[in-house]
Amino acid sequence: MSRIGVFGAGGRMGREVCRTVTSALDLTLVAAVDPAQVGEDVEGIAIAAEPHVLTEAGADVAIDFTHPSAVLANARWCLTHGVHVVIGTTGITPEGLDELRTLAEAGDANAFVAPNFALGAVLMMRFAESAARYFDAAEVIELHHDAKADAPSGTAIATARRIAAARTGDWTAPGGDEAHPGARGADVEGVRVHGVRLPGLLAHQEVIFGGPGQTLTIRHDSTDRSSFMPGVLMAVRAVASRPGLTVGLDALLED
Ligand code: NAP
Repeated sequence: MSRIGVFGAGGRMGREVCRTVTSALDLTLVAAVDPAQVGEDVEGIAIAAEPHVLTEAGADVAIDFTHPSAVLANARWCLTHGVHVVIGTTGITPEGLDELRTLAEAGDANAFVAPNFALGAVLMMRFAESAARYFDAAEVIELHHDAKADAPSGTAIATARRIAAARTGDWTAPGGDEAHPGARGADVEGVRVHGVRLPGLLAHQEVIFGGPGQTLTIRHDSTDRSSFMPGVLMAVRAVASRPGLTVGLDALLED
């Protein structure tokens, strides 16, 4: 039975994670942290302001769905207090990941970071990586709810990087002058990424490949936060046996 603490327990993802942990037979929710909602109840646990409740409650694994400005401090705390950490919060920079790798390799606790825990999104990235070898160009369109803090999404950045690493030959990045700045999206390693933020959306992404006389569109839609929960559970169950830092749910899927 693993003992679990949740950072961001009062947020949209955090509440769903607490529900999921509570209904898993091999996991127990023992601590909840969220400075915005101190004292509120989540699945029978009172939300605390500070992470020390995790060690007081004997948590083995912490799960973080907070904010790009908070996640590194939370993860640092876990890795220096012997608590494994599974991170879903997006917007961590490459330097931030380097720091987590160094801390995880130096201590007894491991870290698992995934920009997208939805299995369908992980497959979308794989399929995009495969297609990149056969097309002349690709663009990524990510669409999210209007309260999302970071842009482009972590999934879009990861997808663009994987396409960039897999492509062959001379890729075109058609464009021309932008009459309005940003019209052609962000340039992530030579792949254009466009971000849409609207109420009514949750998390969606299209990758459009183009070549002579044809296009290929790969699309994934998370229509409910429950889509992320099987992946979160996989990471929580795996993190203790994966020394150092693991990035991406892909690492847990069979080829
Ligand atoms: P949210 O509803 O704003 O929830 C985040 C919660 O964390 C808020 O209650 C926030 O409080 C709290 N928080 C801020 N600083 C904290 C700290 N130091 N310690 C503990 N809690 C803290 O956001 P969300 O929609 O749940 O998304 C959370 C993150 O998960 C985002 O980065 C999002 O991109 C990511 N996400 C990842 C996946 C994935 O599959 N990897 C899927 C969906 C979402 P305040 O309101 O005071 O800031």
